[in-house]
Amino acid sequence: MKLKTLAVASTASLAALALLTASGLTLGTAAMHREVTCLFHMVREVRSITELQVNMLFHERESARVALAQHPEHARARDAAEREMKRWLEELRAHPVTAGNAHAFREAEAEVERYLAAHAQGDSAEPPSTAELAASAMEADRAYAALDRLLSAKIEESRVVRARVDRVLRLSNAMSVGAAVALLAGILATLWQISRCLYRPLLALRAAIDSYGAGSQDARAPHRGLDELREIAVAFNEMAAALAEQRRKQLGILASVAHDLRNPLAALKLTVDRLRPDRPLPPEPQLRPMLARIGKEAARCDRMLTDLMDIARMEGGELELRSEVRDARELAREVVELYRPAATAHELGLSLPEEPVLLRCDPIRIEQVLNNLVANAIKYSPGGGAVQVAVAREGAEVTIAVSDRGVGIAHEDQGRLFERYFRAPSSGRVASGVGLGLWAARRIAEAHGGRIEVTSAPGEGSTFTLHLPG
Ligand code: ADP
Repeated sequence: MKLKTLAVASTASLAALALLTASGLTLGTAAMHREVTCLFHMVREVRSITELQVNMLFHERESARVALAQHPEHARARDAAEREMKRWLEELRAHPVTAGNAHAFREAEAEVERYLAAHAQGDSAEPPSTAELAASAMEADRAYAALDRLLSAKIEESRVVRARVDRVLRLSNAMSVGAAVALLAGILATLWQISRCLYRPLLALRAAIDSYGAGSQDARAPHRGLDELREIAVAFNEMAAALAEQRRKQLGILASVAHDLRNPLAALKLTVDRLRPDRPLPPEPQLRPMLARIGKEAARCDRMLTDLMDIARMEGGELELRSEVRDARELAREVVELYRPAATAHELGLSLPEEPVLLRCDPIRIEQVLNNLVANAIKYSPGGGAVQVAVAREGAEVTIAVSDRGVGIAHEDQGRLFERYFRAPSSGRVASGVGLGLWAARRIAEAHGGRIEVTSAPGEGSTFTLHLPG
């Protein structure tokens, strides 16, 4: 999984959970608001009904008083009660009639209107008869009873609404708890995922880096977690493996240098032993070759150490050229003459043009390249044979080719010859080496703006050609 995918997935799932919770709570609140509004209307309706009943009782009492005493004060009180009744009836009509109480409402409305109509005939001078009084009381009772039924219907309806409110409340509570649990679970799942894919692999990577830094060469980072961390772990492990391989090769070089230095040093030691202060000096004819040998072996050690230091400097990126104009024929001749005395099993040949082949170069570096090419030509043709060095001018270029009839190089290895520490598998059996000479040679050629090319066939020999701008 990629870091971006983890971030997007965590954010999206947490946002979806939060959105669901918010929508649930909003729906719950809206339902609660609806039911509370309904209850509020019911309270007002109940109040209208009771006010109607109270005013009707008041109206009836004052009507009876008017009939008995004909007092204008009572007539005013009765009229006021009538107005109040009409007002509360209007108020009641203003509320929506629900299916549950439509019948009770229409009945109560009709009874109240009949009661009001019966008492609207005006005041008569005669006191009402007993039959009239009884009829009026019956009308009042009927209206009162109808209002009572409407009141009961309303109270019943309010019970239903209350039960609904209870349900909504329970649902809202359950939803809130569920949402809180889901959110918590979502957060915990996200944290667990972050810890599994990001935090723990990061700790493991850091532990590997720390332990590598503390000197444990075998420390490797586990391939765990996000893709990016895996890629870093792979890169770290490859780097550690490459460094380990490089270290192994460097130790090999040290061993090989120590081994190569032992021969000249042993020769030096033997010769110097014969010149110890407690022994008489040999006669001059013997002394001179001994001193020459000391000089030769010391020069050999010096050259080996200089080459090594050169390579170390080049590895550090330093390659300084001291250019001057030289004849390439001279450089080739010097190198061949250097190797001629030692290469007794080989025929060292030189092919030089008549005309000087001038080129601008650092002669010491170019000699170093030619030394390496000639030394390899001798080293990798153990059965002896011709080693040919040919100088030529080809257009704007000067070429110096070194050919041998040695073991040759397999086609698939030729592309890797100039890599650091590379040795063709077949050459290990032929001669010792560390695989740095051609790498250094190519760096020197390139620093001069040139290149080295190779043509070779296994068992037939090789030709290495140094091309330099003329
Ligand atoms: P070294 O000779 O110390 O191994 P070099 O960098 O000089 O290192 O050469 C790299 C490799 O190229 C050698 O190990 C050998 O396999 C191959 N090589 C170089 N020159 C020749 C040659 N003339 N004939 C055959 N193989 C060669």
